[in-house]
Amino acid sequence: MEIVLNDLHTTIVGRSILHYPSLPSTMDFAKKLAGEGVGEGVVVLCDEQTEGRGRQGRKWFASPSSSILLSVVFRPTLGQLPQINMLGSLSIVHAIERLAGIKSTIKWPNDVLVDGSKVAGILMESILQAEALQAAILGVGLNVNLDVSSYPEISSIATSLSAQAGRDFNRDDVLRTLLEEMDTLYQAVKRNEDVYRRWLPHVETLGKTVRIKSGQSVEEGLAQSINPDGSITLRRADGSLVTIATGE
Ligand code: ATP
Repeated sequence: MEIVLNDLHTTIVGRSILHYPSLPSTMDFAKKLAGEGVGEGVVVLCDEQTEGRGRQGRKWFASPSSSILLSVVFRPTLGQLPQINMLGSLSIVHAIERLAGIKSTIKWPNDVLVDGSKVAGILMESILQAEALQAAILGVGLNVNLDVSSYPEISSIATSLSAQAGRDFNRDDVLRTLLEEMDTLYQAVKRNEDVYRRWLPHVETLGKTVRIKSGQSVEEGLAQSINPDGSITLRRADGSLVTIATGE
């Protein structure tokens, strides 16, 4: 069902918001709509996701109405694609600051952390046809009023806005703020402004020793650079360098 969010000041993102009480996955639904040709900026939102997933099919936990669970259809150029992923995490950092006055950081490639605990995850999938990019779908799971202690699988690694701020948040306020931040950044992407330069200072992974699954192997090393295409370059213990793309 299409809803109207009062006082939403955006140009593209949220020009149509489709809200469902329950969906298997906002990602799959938005992807289907994108394949059918819906315009960019369409948001698919749900209160409960029965098959919510993160990257590589990992499960995303959210009790009904506790979180922002949405996917947005974008139609960027192939060159703008890495910036869609970046605008996902950066818009959440901006929204958390505006809503709660809380600083958050980005763990490469796409987690948002408060005090080292994960408050949001981002997922980007694209639709390619004959090597041309048809659409990029950006999925967000943001823990708003989620009680993470009721999920043993994530209780030690996750947090929520309510846990951090000590009060509950109105989900419409969170949604409005997030869509506005996304819209502002998407306008910047469309003008070919350097969103990477704005995103990079918030990425806390740089300079840390990290372990990253890459294909079948695991790479470990010092995060030496995070690059404009979204990839990360690690310096291994033996001094050699390896660059890993976001999607791996
Ligand atoms: P990692 O978080 O280890 O970097 P990832 O970025 O691949 O992995 P995602 O695809 O963003 O992870 O999301 C899936 C993972 O996020 C799950 O395996 C689980 O560890 C964690 N997770 C699931 N639900 C939540 C939640 N509501 N809040 C925070 N973390 C969650």
